[in-house]
Order: sequence, then structure tokens, then C-alpha cells
Amino acid sequence: MKIVNPATHKLLADIPADTAGSVAAKYQRACEAQVEWARTPLTTRVEALRRFGALLTANADELALVLTREMGKPIKQARNELGAMPSRIDYFLGETAAVMSDEVVFSDGDPARPKLKEIIAHEPLGVIANISAWNYPYFVGSNVFVPALLTGNAVLYKPSEFATMTGLRIADLLQQAGVAADAFLHVVGAGNIGAALLRQPINGVFFTGSYGTGRKVAETVAPRLIHTQLELGGKDPTYVCEDVDVARAAEGLADGAFYNAGQSCCSVERLYVHKRIYDAFVEAFVATVDKFVVGDPEDEATYIGPLAREAQLDVLASQVADAVKHGAKVRSGGKRLDRTGFYFAPTVLANASHEMQVMRDESFGPIIGIQSVSDDDEAVRLMNDTDYGLTAGVYSKDSARATRILRQIAAGSVYWNCCDRVSPRLPWTGRKHSGIGSTMSHAGIRAFLQPKAWHLRGA
Ligand code: NDP
Repeated sequence: MKIVNPATHKLLADIPADTAGSVAAKYQRACEAQVEWARTPLTTRVEALRRFGALLTANADELALVLTREMGKPIKQARNELGAMPSRIDYFLGETAAVMSDEVVFSDGDPARPKLKEIIAHEPLGVIANISAWNYPYFVGSNVFVPALLTGNAVLYKPSEFATMTGLRIADLLQQAGVAADAFLHVVGAGNIGAALLRQPINGVFFTGSYGTGRKVAETVAPRLIHTQLELGGKDPTYVCEDVDVARAAEGLADGAFYNAGQSCCSVERLYVHKRIYDAFVEAFVATVDKFVVGDPEDEATYIGPLAREAQLDVLASQVADAVKHGAKVRSGGKRLDRTGFYFAPTVLANASHEMQVMRDESFGPIIGIQSVSDDDEAVRLMNDTDYGLTAGVYSKDSARATRILRQIAAGSVYWNCCDRVSPRLPWTGRKHSGIGSTMSHAGIRAFLQPKAWHLRGA
């Protein structure tokens, strides 16, 4: 596996990849380790994951640099990702015991010697595959492996080939923290190694990535009827009503669209703006975007770095060409930057319409279309006109109006006057092509457990 810096094209590392044989051997080791790990007291597992959180904090500067070098995330944003990890991990540390504990749901007769008792117990799934994405490797990885390990599962973790070095550091720190040696094993390689992992008789698969690959994953494991959870892409819309503070809304939404070069599953990808403020909003939005510092991701001042994957440059260029063909106006950017690295200029397309790919297909880059709408009904219709359903937002001073609109939107998360936001206390879940299942919240802990129903009748 040759790891190349997307900002410089320089080779960073050459890491031996797994083979189908080594993946099978790791599966066997994980199977043996899981039994012992599940028997380990929960308090011991909690302490190990607590130490993992502390190690992330202690090593944050070095880990951030590794992430910046291998996927191009600006250094400040890499540090932000690591800085947010303790609160994410603490949520799981604090809530797992309550979610895992037995529930007595019926007890008949003398409480000391009940005639009949019914209990729901929660057992780990076993060995699970965690196939992960590169855009927020700490967030999307830990949303799976932290609750999976806490609940007594063993994890075979495949980082994306674009975040392999980060994946290796995660594995190293989990071992240092005291997670049993084979309860967490990383698997290194590209998509073919992900596919080899799925051929093992795993007990569950937790996948984060694109709809296309997620669908393949689901089709591959479907005959085995194992727990399958898919966190996939989005084409996340926001509607800006005419009653907003235009400059503030434009600033917040530009950040939600362009942070991490737009490479977030919940980046704002489409904007619908009420016609009464459309022109003013576009001006304010373009003014904000034009101030973004594009440059070397290791530079503290940089807000937009290179894309992680070279191939995405062509996708974005073709979305711009298609939009222009259908009448869009390029108000900012519009093309690859003439410099070393996979840089695409932050791009704002005004006069957007649903004839354009940029309003329908996931862009996953620093580009956005802005469309004018006449009223709330038109905004609702357009926001729902998508195969995806990850997040959607409304900016308005009127909470009743925003609530009325958001109730009509088919999306797993909805935002009022905010965007591009995730909370460990709330389920992260997609509708339609954005996936199935939930991470985070109690639902995202229970996902790693299977219920066992106990029917107990005294003699
Ligand atoms: P991909 O679908 O390309 O890859 C996801 C993972 O699957 C990678 O580890 C990849 O390995 C692996 N993989 C590829 N082919 C196979 C296969 N046949 N069998 C098993 N595994 C395979 O997505 P990206 O990594 O490019 O991530 C970007 C996508 O992820 C976007 O659509 C984004 O919206 C979505 N995403 C969703 C999130 C959510 O929470 N809903 C969060 C973050 C991202 P390799 O990379 O080595 O090829």
C-alpha cells in the first residue's frame, strides 16, 4: 500500500497489505479473543477505552499531523477532530452499563421467590467487521469500535486506504490502552481486502462509505442474515427563509459546505434560498467563500486543503460543466487549481436547478449549488427530491415554521439554524440511500448487542 500525500504527491509510506489468507487468520484470532474479552468485567473494558481517550489527547499533535499528511485535512481541522474525541468517548463510557444491563420486565408472586420471571439480557454480537471511511477517520471509526469493544465484541477494523496510517495509530493506541491484543485487529488494504473481510463468518458488519459500495456490502452478506449497518452518503439541503440575518446565515452555511473541503457526509450540498433575499444571500455567501484560505494543509492559516482522492477532481469538474450547460453561473472557483496537489477551487454555482447533477448527485468536495425558491412548499418538494436522506436544515427566525417544514423532510437528522453537526447523544442515521441503522445515542450502543429473552419459572 503506497500512501501518497495529496498536497505534494510525495510518497509517505509503503505499508505491507493484508492478503486473503492473513485476513482469515486474523478472523480466527479475533474469534478466540472475543470470548475472553466479553467475560472481562465491563469496568475493565471501560477503563481501557478511557485510557485510549487519554492517549488520543496526549498524542493529539502527532496524530493530527499524520492525518493531515495522508488525507490533506487542514491541520487545525485535524486537531479539532481529535479535540472532540474525549466527549464522544465519554458518552459511550457513561452510558454503556445502563444499555447493557438486564431488564426484569415481569415478576409474579413473592418478590423473593417469584413464580415467573421474565428478563431481557443483552449479549454482544461476537466478531464484527468495521469497514471505515477516510474523511473523519477518528469520528466514523470510533462511533463503531468504541461501543463495539465496550459491549464485549471483537473488532476487525479496516481503515480506508486513504487513512491507513491513522488506522494503524488507532490500533497501536488501543493496544497501549489495554484492549486485549486480538480483540481489535486492523486489516490493511484496498477494497479487495474489505471484500475478503466480508467473506469471513463475521457476526455483523458496520460500514461507512458510499451508497455504491454500501449496497455491494449489503448484497454480499444478505444470505447470511447477519446484523448489517450502513452509514452512507448524503445530498444534504438547507432552506434559507426570507426572515434571516443574511450575513450570519451565509457565513454559517459556507462553513457547513466547505469545512474539510466539503468532504463530510453531512456537508451542506444544496442551498434553497427564498427569492426575496436570493441575490443578497448569494453576494454574502460568495464574499465569505472568497475569503477562505486555500493552501498547504500543514499551514495553520489554511481552511481548504487538497481533496483526499485525485479521481474526485474529475467528478467535480464534470458537475461544473453540466451545471453551466444547464444555465448555472459560476460565482466563484469552478476548476482545478493550477498547482501541485489535488486542489479544487471552492466553487459557488448560482442559478442552480434540479436539472443539474450538482443538485442531485453527491459532490463530496468544495462545491455548492444555490437555487431560488418561491415559498416553503417549493422548498420542501425540492429538499425531498433526492435519493438520499441523511440531514436537512432550515434557517429562519420562526421556530414553528422551521418545525413545520422539517417534519415533512425525509432525513435522519434535521437542523434548525445550524448545520454539519453531529452529537453523541443523538442517533446518527440515514434514510433511503443514506443507509440503515444508527450509530451514537443508546441506539448506537444497542446496535452491538443482541437480546436474549429469559423465561424463568421457579420449581
Ligand atoms: P467507499 O465506499 O469508496 O469506501 C468505504 C470503505 O469500503 C473503504 O474502507 C473501502 O476501502 C471499502 N471498500 C471498497 N470496496 C469494498 C468492497 N467491495 N467490499 C468491502 N469494502 C470495500 O467510500 P469512501 O471511503 O470514499 O467514503 C466517502 C463516502 O462515505 C461518501 O459517500 C460519504 O458521504 C460517506 N460517508 C458517510 C458517513 C455517514 O456517517 N453517513 C460518514 C463518512 C462518510 P478502500 O478505501 O481501501 O477502497
